Amino acid sequence: MNYLDSTTLHEREMLVRRSLLLSLVSTASLTLQAAAQGTPRLPERAVRRDIPITNSIRRAYAAGTRDSTGRPARNYWQIRTDYTISARLDPATSRLSGRETVVLHNNSPDSLAQIVLRLDPNIFLGNTPQAAPWVPSEVTDGMVITRVTVNGAAVELEPPPAASADGARAAQAAAAAQNAQVPNQPRMLFGKTTVARVNLPTKLLPHSTTTVEIEWNHKIPGGPGSGHRMTQRWADTLYQPTQWYPRLAVYDDLRGWDTELYLGPSEFYNNFGRFDVRIDVPAGWIVSGTGVLQNPDEVLTPNARERIKRVLATDSITRIVGPEEVGPGQATQRGAPIAGEDGDRLVWHFVADTVNDFAWATAKKYVWDMTRATIPGKGPVPINMLYLPGRAQLYARAGSVARHALEFYSKQWFPYQFPQLTLQDGPSAGMEYPMVINSNQGAADHETGHQWWPMVVSNNETWYGWMDEGFNQYMNVLSDADAANQMANFNGYGQSYGGVSGAEAEPPMMWNANYDGPGFYGFTTYSKTPLMLSMLGGIVGDSAVQRAHREWAQMWMFRHPSPWDYMFFMNNALKRDLGWFWYYWLFTTESVDGSIQRSATAGGTTTVTVRQDGQMPSPVVLEVKFAPGSSAIRPMRNAVMKDSLTAIITYPVDVWFSGNKTFDAVLDFGSRRIQRIRLDPSCRFPDRDPSDNVWPRAAAPGEPAQGQGGRRGPSCPA
Ligand SMILES: [Zn+2]
Repeated sequence: MNYLDSTTLHEREMLVRRSLLLSLVSTASLTLQAAAQGTPRLPERAVRRDIPITNSIRRAYAAGTRDSTGRPARNYWQIRTDYTISARLDPATSRLSGRETVVLHNNSPDSLAQIVLRLDPNIFLGNTPQAAPWVPSEVTDGMVITRVTVNGAAVELEPPPAASADGARAAQAAAAAQNAQVPNQPRMLFGKTTVARVNLPTKLLPHSTTTVEIEWNHKIPGGPGSGHRMTQRWADTLYQPTQWYPRLAVYDDLRGWDTELYLGPSEFYNNFGRFDVRIDVPAGWIVSGTGVLQNPDEVLTPNARERIKRVLATDSITRIVGPEEVGPGQATQRGAPIAGEDGDRLVWHFVADTVNDFAWATAKKYVWDMTRATIPGKGPVPINMLYLPGRAQLYARAGSVARHALEFYSKQWFPYQFPQLTLQDGPSAGMEYPMVINSNQGAADHETGHQWWPMVVSNNETWYGWMDEGFNQYMNVLSDADAANQMANFNGYGQSYGGVSGAEAEPPMMWNANYDGPGFYGFTTYSKTPLMLSMLGGIVGDSAVQRAHREWAQMWMFRHPSPWDYMFFMNNALKRDLGWFWYYWLFTTESVDGSIQRSATAGGTTTVTVRQDGQMPSPVVLEVKFAPGSSAIRPMRNAVMKDSLTAIITYPVDVWFSGNKTFDAVLDFGSRRIQRIRLDPSCRFPDRDPSDNVWPRAAAPGEPAQGQGGRRGPSCPA
């Protein structure tokens, strides 16, 4: 999902906080003066250097499914769910009705007494829990389940407590009554939430296969808004169904069944499996979606099929169905008249192997354009763009943006794994599914980035949104720079976190993102990760960060990595114990708050007193600017010359582990006069007031660096 709006909002908040903080700084320096005069001092800090281990990862380590290498361990497993779905759209009522068979491969060592279902359309009931930032949507009767079987045995359906007078609900209640009170029958417990459980009289054994059949229907929600995933149709002419079929929840080695509710802002956590999907719509309506179309001869016109043959030969745009080609026989084949129906219909058949979700869209008047991307080691793959005729300008650059994203991220992490990519126009703009992005050119780079995570590296987005949106924001900086033929520059990002740190409303990144709260969901889930990785790049180098991240990503393709797998994998790949780094960034909201307290030259050496007022430690990096002159600049072991008059001297983070808040850097460069010393010259370490990082102090410090996150880099004085 794209969160640019809230990032902008956040930047405005940052400005307010900055000015508040600037007024607080004078209070802080009073405290320090008081300390110097002998009043009680603030306690020195204790630096934590290990990664907190919670019960869920402790359980995985005990079971040998994961370990501190950060790679899947010898007992790693994940369940698989294969779906066969037939769905029918009725535009007159905006209702989608479906029948599905899910084959659950219980690859776990556990016997399962329950199956957990995700019924995400229940969020539209209007009275289910929702998290802020709250997005308005049409109230519907939610996901109506009319029949469930497990291995052929009918499941007793418990209607929700307050069944409405709605016909579909009544049908559900009737079906439940019919099935009532059979001994040893599986029983389904609905809450008025997005999660339902089926209690089983017979446990599902380890390594067994279970078939679940479900019949369902729901109204596709329209809504007052757009640009979010709550509104899924425009009137009765365009539909963008997402989270549209009952899903089996993930059962994993960390928590067992994933019973987190779908509350709106936080995203998903899904099993991999094969999807075989048939979508029945009026003839003339074009359907796009996850997977590969299996029956082009039945649904596409001969003209369209002929045009598609040219797509992979060129980077230019090929028109498949134009704005003037509307209706049966023009946009699509003519459908077969169906007895008892008021018109012709067509069934579009898609298959996707090993994906973790399926999304689609259909419209009465889609324009369909195609182009290609050339994936290294794989060759050309098609890019589809489907949009309303009046919105062509929003797709004018979409093909080239999506192509650049597919090609760039393929080189950056691993080759694009899917056989096609489709951009779908509609109200739910800024959302991602396997092979599908509901996006125009505006967010095409970001949403295409999601084809790497969570679509292949399948993080738990609900809990650990930063591993999904945060990693994506980081790589968008790389992609933007590449598209502009520039080097990505992460200077300033890490430092800017100092302007946020200390707010009581900010949850740590290792908080469950479902509960990040209205003020900080966007920051914690999206914006903060690039700041964290900027600091990591300030320690080990940006290219080392990206190399380690690439190795981690390739290790976890089509698997479910945990944050600990990431932290430990990065430690090992970077050959550093970064426990302290992960602890402060992911489990706290602390910052470094560095400053140069004083600098004194005596007997040929200069002693620079560096102070860190925050709880987070960092290496000490000093930029030393020499005056022009003839005396030699003596080399120091931990210094490198940036140019003939500038040295960068680095002390490892270890200098803080004894608990002091000040460190004396003794510079021994010989007799050449030092003009200026700057702490953290690349602006990588969180600092609420960078103006005290220079010595001698600037007479009139300029405005501190403003803003971070989003697609613009924060500033760092050269
Ligand atoms: Zn996103």
